[in-house]
Amino acid sequence: MPTDRYSLFSLLREGLRGNTGWKAAWRKAAPAPAYDYVIVGGGGHGLATAYYLARRYGGLRIAVVEKGWIGGGNVGRNTTIVRSNYLLPGNEPFYECSMKLWEGLEQDINYNAMVSQRGVLNLFHNDAQRNAYIRRGNGMRLHGVDAELLDATAVREKLPFLNFDDARFPIRGGLLQPRGGTVRHDAVAWGYARAADRLGVDIIENCEVTGIRIERGRAVGVETSRGFVGAGKVGLACAGNSSRVAAMAGLRLPIESHVLQAFVSEGLKPFIDCVVTFGAGHFYISQSDKGGLVFGGDIDGYNSYAQRGNLPVIEDVCEGGMALMPRIGRVRLLRHWGGLMDMSMDGSPIIDRTPVDGLYLNAGWCYGGFKATPASGLCFAHLLARDEPHPVATAYRLDRFARGAVIDEKGMGAQPNLH
Ligand SMILES: Cc1cc2nc3c(=O)[nH]c(=O)nc-3n(C[C@H](O)[C@H](O)[C@H](O)COP(=O)(O)OP(=O)(O)OC[C@H]3O[C@@H](n4cnc5c(N)ncnc54)[C@H](O)[C@@H]3O)c2cc1C
Repeated sequence: MPTDRYSLFSLLREGLRGNTGWKAAWRKAAPAPAYDYVIVGGGGHGLATAYYLARRYGGLRIAVVEKGWIGGGNVGRNTTIVRSNYLLPGNEPFYECSMKLWEGLEQDINYNAMVSQRGVLNLFHNDAQRNAYIRRGNGMRLHGVDAELLDATAVREKLPFLNFDDARFPIRGGLLQPRGGTVRHDAVAWGYARAADRLGVDIIENCEVTGIRIERGRAVGVETSRGFVGAGKVGLACAGNSSRVAAMAGLRLPIESHVLQAFVSEGLKPFIDCVVTFGAGHFYISQSDKGGLVFGGDIDGYNSYAQRGNLPVIEDVCEGGMALMPRIGRVRLLRHWGGLMDMSMDGSPIIDRTPVDGLYLNAGWCYGGFKATPASGLCFAHLLARDEPHPVATAYRLDRFARGAVIDEKGMGAQPNLH
């Protein structure tokens, strides 16, 4: 009989019988004529939504339709950082909910997602930035979230190789969230896909949604490259393609799509034991368990649906890296790639109903949607099942831009590259 559950016992047993008994992680499902819920987009958010829907609301017919393959979108392209170091009331409870879900995720879905709470350190370089981080840290603590302010000496002890002595932007300290860290991104996609499949969800790959069928003002299903699939409710979780898919239902979203690039170096001996972000430029870095330096920076500054970027941003990211830690200049780059960001105009996401009955939207995750994956799935499932927002996601309404109730964490205004 194929082995289904991962445990020490099943690992030993399969090790002894040549790993011949593992069950496929998920079935290759074909579309059925109709489902109660169709989730468009098999990224982290779509899969997590399907999982929490099936797990919490039981007995439902659920499908996830994905135009490519599981893990091919941003969920498998990000720099794997998770944190809940937010300031604004609309954001902090949501991201802390996600952090708590990360902490229990591996047991919950029976999958090793390599959740590593190695800490996230945001550096500051002047007094104004220090004040802003003190405020943010206090806000976090008021919400019961861990935050520690480090002075320059404490940062130097932790990361002695940073440029402290002759830097253009001297390091004055940092705000540390010890519970933040990294999670292996594609394991999150595979883990949720496997767990949802075990609960009966059909995960349908190579199935592109080409239209949304609307009858008498209500979404009744999706047209796909594999035929029409009927649905009681349709949930969109298409990340960088959100605007294009929503346009199939006549919706224009407050979202621009931009490329974000990421980089990984050759493997090195471990020397960075947390995630570090530069406060004087857009650059962040961590070290993977294989030893590669994983780093990134700003979005490419033009709208695009291409999953590859261009050289000016590569130069900009490398400049940031050199300013912060000059030793990076001798490291060889192994790979770089791009993913499609759904940049909302205030830098915060949308989890809401749309003006079309039966059509629901999960979008606008900008740079930060990976850390949100579990809470986004939980809250979108709640909205789909109950038709009301989850208590930690009440601020993420689609009409907030018209109402002037934006959630602009960085106070930058409607400029995607500054969020
Ligand atoms: C380089 C990079 C670094 C990042 N770093 C971080 C980070 O460190 N921390 C963090 O929190 N976030 C980070 N992010 C952001 C994060 O990855 C995204 O916000 C998040 O993954 C988006 O949600 P998703 O996983 O559902 O997206 P995706 O995996 O992109 O899922 C959307 C899916 O929808 C599918 N789809 C689109 N159109 C259709 C259609 N018509 N029919 C069917 N399917 C369709 C796509 O193929 C795709 O698989 C980063 C992103 C990038 C690109």
